[in-house]
Amino acid sequence: MAAQSRVPATAESGTLTQLGPLPNTYTSDISLQRMLGWYLPAETLKLIEPHLSQLGKEAVSPQVFAWNTDAETNLPYVKKYNVWGQRYAYDRLITTDGWKQLGKWGAKHGVVSLGYDHTYGVYRRTIQYAAVYLYAPSSAMYRCPMSMSDGAALVLSQRLKDLPNDHILHTVFRKLTSRGHDYWTSGQWMTERAGGSDVQNTETWATYAPLPQESKTSDVLAEGDYLISGFKFFSSATDANVAFLLAKTDSGKLSTFIAPLRKTSVGADGKPEEVSNGVRIHRLKNKLGTKELPTAELELKGMRAHLVGDLDQGIVTIAPLLNTTRIQTLLGTLSTWRRAISITKNFAKSRTTVGEPLWLIPMHLRLLADVEVKHRGAINLAFFTIAVMGLIENPSSPARHAHMPRDLTEAKVVFRVLTATSKGVVSKMSMVGVQECQEAMGGVGYIDEPDEPEFNISRLLRSAAVYPIWEGTTNVLASELVRFLMKGDNLPILSGWLGRVVSLIRTPSLAGALKQALASFLSRVTSSRPQAALLADARRVMFTFAWILAGVLLTLDAERDEDEVAMEIARRWVLLGEGGVGEFVYRDIVKPYQCFDSTSGSDEHTRLDCKIAWGVELPAKIVFGHRSLSESSKL
Ligand SMILES: Cc1cc2nc3c(=O)[nH]c(=O)nc-3n(C[C@H](O)[C@H](O)[C@H](O)COP(=O)(O)OP(=O)(O)OC[C@H]3O[C@@H](n4cnc5c(N)ncnc54)[C@H](O)[C@@H]3O)c2cc1C
Repeated sequence: MAAQSRVPATAESGTLTQLGPLPNTYTSDISLQRMLGWYLPAETLKLIEPHLSQLGKEAVSPQVFAWNTDAETNLPYVKKYNVWGQRYAYDRLITTDGWKQLGKWGAKHGVVSLGYDHTYGVYRRTIQYAAVYLYAPSSAMYRCPMSMSDGAALVLSQRLKDLPNDHILHTVFRKLTSRGHDYWTSGQWMTERAGGSDVQNTETWATYAPLPQESKTSDVLAEGDYLISGFKFFSSATDANVAFLLAKTDSGKLSTFIAPLRKTSVGADGKPEEVSNGVRIHRLKNKLGTKELPTAELELKGMRAHLVGDLDQGIVTIAPLLNTTRIQTLLGTLSTWRRAISITKNFAKSRTTVGEPLWLIPMHLRLLADVEVKHRGAINLAFFTIAVMGLIENPSSPARHAHMPRDLTEAKVVFRVLTATSKGVVSKMSMVGVQECQEAMGGVGYIDEPDEPEFNISRLLRSAAVYPIWEGTTNVLASELVRFLMKGDNLPILSGWLGRVVSLIRTPSLAGALKQALASFLSRVTSSRPQAALLADARRVMFTFAWILAGVLLTLDAERDEDEVAMEIARRWVLLGEGGVGEFVYRDIVKPYQCFDSTSGSDEHTRLDCKIAWGVELPAKIVFGHRSLSESSKL
């Protein structure tokens, strides 16, 4: 046993764990690089890589952490009255400079605009969402208003062709997709006290009341034809410039509107002043996490708004916005998890316990490998979903890969299934994944110092907790999925596509297992049970489907280059029952497809744990994880 120092520790001296800086989040992320290498042509990737690498470097820079600290220590608040008790012309939402800088930083890197940059053609969504993935965990939740702005930009982009060039919505679109300091954000106001999942309960009403021609001013955006009143229970982008919202009209049906939060009016002194467009911030909400995000309750009284899309077609109009924010949520949760993995690995490299380096202790190594396997499955679901979105947005561009849907009808069905499934499943997986990373840092993982964001996993865990709730809870997404599959030809189209994709797999053991799983899954969902019974099982349907699809994608990805780590991840996922999507599965379908044969206890398994977790061969030095074993090995 090594001689022990008898010098007592003091508050300032003794053993101190010191972590190195976090690595560039792009160049250190093998999983992300594999996804981009798969879904982008080599020349496009080469073109965009310097940008992603720069963003990945800035994401862990002292400057960005300083902005995060500012946003998380100086929380937003609202000031409504001046010192004399007079209400301001609009409720003042006070946010810090750090928060605002994080917005500018995101806009500069194109987290919204890249999705509308046609120089990247069919690949623009993959490029945009790679940037979002790098931006999100360093954005102090500014990613949330950015995601709604992305959704708003998409809804507008689909409608601009029908509007004259000087229509005000062209200006709004340009602002939402600006990379300069003049960029705008958009809110999305759907949830009310009577329900977020069920927007039919909306108690916000819109009345058609166009302004007479003579009273119109140059503030065209603020002079929409409808007056809206109601109460919105959750508004996260409260500092937004505009908002997309749902309201009922005389028909009692929902329509979609857009409105600015403020407008210019002529004051008593004859000078123009900024006033509220009928919006009052009732209060900011106290939340478990995302505290820097100014989530508010809003009272609307006579808010002037423009109708977007057709009257009474509110859900159809706003649906693309929801699809977008769901994908953005998926990336937010997935990248939060990746950041947690990066922090916890950094810690493992710096820590020794029982006299051994933590990063090599076999059980810890296996845990890290398992987290990587799960994350690789999840990122495959995410980037496949994004690639399908690219196909739908560019129907004239043929798919480059055999596993992609082969026509628009197929792509639309697959995409509808994936926006619900990927968001629902990955949000749940991330929550558990981030918790594992927190625990893997011991007690320090539980510490929550807002002014030290770099290694603070607790704040990531608090953020991760919101992802399964907003943009559709797990139940709501699972219910949507099952109801969609039961409609028309959707299930036959989905199963036709997936069957074709499974048949592309060349590795017999993996192909056999996945074919068997798919057949059992299809027989389960098509068995003649009442639809209500299948709905009760909707989570199992969604998570089982996700497990099969992730297994297929992991395998096809690995077969591209027969990469040893990628092949092992696919083998573990499909054959050994490792990794996986969590507990809500049909257990007779999601199971190990290879008989248990001691592989998982072998030296070879440990060697591959090391390659999966660290990308290197297991060092020759033998590590046990317990003093008694390491002592006896020396005898
Ligand atoms: C931090 C934060 C910020 C938010 N920001 C915004 C925002 O900017 N804009 C906005 O519009 N909303 C926002 N939301 C609201 C969020 O989208 C809703 O909370 C969410 O959609 C759930 O709606 P709800 O709260 O009304 O819950 P409910 O719809 O009442 O759900 C309660 C429970 O019932 C379950 N449930 C509901 N329907 C079904 C069903 N058909 N089958 C089975 N189970 C069901 C749900 O899964 C849930 O467990 C935000 C929420 C949070 C937490």
